[in-house]
Amino acid sequence: MEVNKIMADLERKHPGENEYLQAVREVLESIEEVYNQHPEYEKAKIVERMVEPDRIFTFRVTWVDDQGEVQTNLGYRVQFNSAIGPYKGGLRFHKAVNPSMLKFLGFEQTFKNALTTLPMGGGKGGSDFDPVGKSNAEIMRFCQAFMTELWQNIGVDTDVPAGDVGVGGREIGFLNGMYQKLARKYHTGVLTGKGMAWGGSILRPEATGFGALYFVEHMLNKAGKSIKGAKIAISGFGNVAWGAATKATELGGHVIALSGPDGVCLNPNGMTPEKLAYMLELRASNRNVVAPFAEKFPDATFVPGKKAWSVPCDIALPCAFQNELNGDDAAELLKNGTWCCAEVSNMGCTPEAIHTFQNAGILFAPGKAVNAGGVATSGLEMTQNCMHISWSGAEVDDKLHFIMANIHEACVKYGQRPDGSIDYVKGANIAGFMKVAQAMLEQGII
Ligand code: GLU
Repeated sequence: MEVNKIMADLERKHPGENEYLQAVREVLESIEEVYNQHPEYEKAKIVERMVEPDRIFTFRVTWVDDQGEVQTNLGYRVQFNSAIGPYKGGLRFHKAVNPSMLKFLGFEQTFKNALTTLPMGGGKGGSDFDPVGKSNAEIMRFCQAFMTELWQNIGVDTDVPAGDVGVGGREIGFLNGMYQKLARKYHTGVLTGKGMAWGGSILRPEATGFGALYFVEHMLNKAGKSIKGAKIAISGFGNVAWGAATKATELGGHVIALSGPDGVCLNPNGMTPEKLAYMLELRASNRNVVAPFAEKFPDATFVPGKKAWSVPCDIALPCAFQNELNGDDAAELLKNGTWCCAEVSNMGCTPEAIHTFQNAGILFAPGKAVNAGGVATSGLEMTQNCMHISWSGAEVDDKLHFIMANIHEACVKYGQRPDGSIDYVKGANIAGFMKVAQAMLEQGII
């Protein structure tokens, strides 16, 4: 395989789709050496087939806002790869959503889902609908209009969407309600991230953040470090950031910064149960600002326009959006003594930031390994739905622990450097790739 040739072909076919091209390049550079030891992959053109989604549905979503104005958005579902199971991945509602973003996310999801050890292919979807400032009724009408188009392309054995940025339990509720009405099918396993009363799994809301911290614990243990007493900076205040902050606090870490698009809240005394609960209120308010956190809790200070990465910390946890931590941010973190960064958001760091961390020799792990606990618990939700039972919180947590330990082990197996340290980016990419590649090879040229 020649990475530059494959990338040149892809750029020609998909000009300007920068996030998608960035995600593909990162994986290809990591797997090049291993791939070239497998002529059977080369012969079956595994990489050339794997970098393109199986198919993409694009549709118009028209709805009426509270003022009676007609609004039109675009909706998408990218069915990326089904070699190891039905398409699986979230829906993102955000004004910047476009095909490039969803293709990068679907590509990443394919490898992430492979890492979970569960039989799930990769998919992603969403809309350029902007939930900021929308009323509950508007969100409902939009979700219903979105599902009117999507329902024929999803199903318990074909494609199982879930939440992502801008899509939480409320949106999944509206989507599921409309799906059942249109399809006249009442299996609980067509979407995941459902409410507990209608097929949801205990611990799914917490799973991405909790799983991330379980992964971080393994990474720190391996390096002879501990989370106890560590200062942690987190970006975001959505569901994922909340789960991460909750578990980090429980494990003895101090979450000393929390950020939003408006700036950062310095939180020198760490989190309390009240502060953690308030993070959920902030997300539910649909205002997309973090400043009210400092108004509510007088020991916190809001600094407008600054990122969480300007705050001195031991561990940086990007939990918001792709490319939210760039090369300059990485340099600033290093200057302030940061010794670990784990991407909890998908592709949270730019390639420059990753190189800066890796060149400095600090611990770094990529989103597709760190945040895989979310989709893994979606997989556990699907299993419970198919068995028509519910597991206890302890059972789900045990399984999540086991899965995150396995993912860490897979990264160690494939990411070992000659000096004994671990390249988690390489480890995660190779482990995910090997599973999908082998599955594609064994199922022929399709
Ligand atoms: N959106 C989440 C992710 O990026 C979860 C997907 C799911 O649960 O299907 O992995």
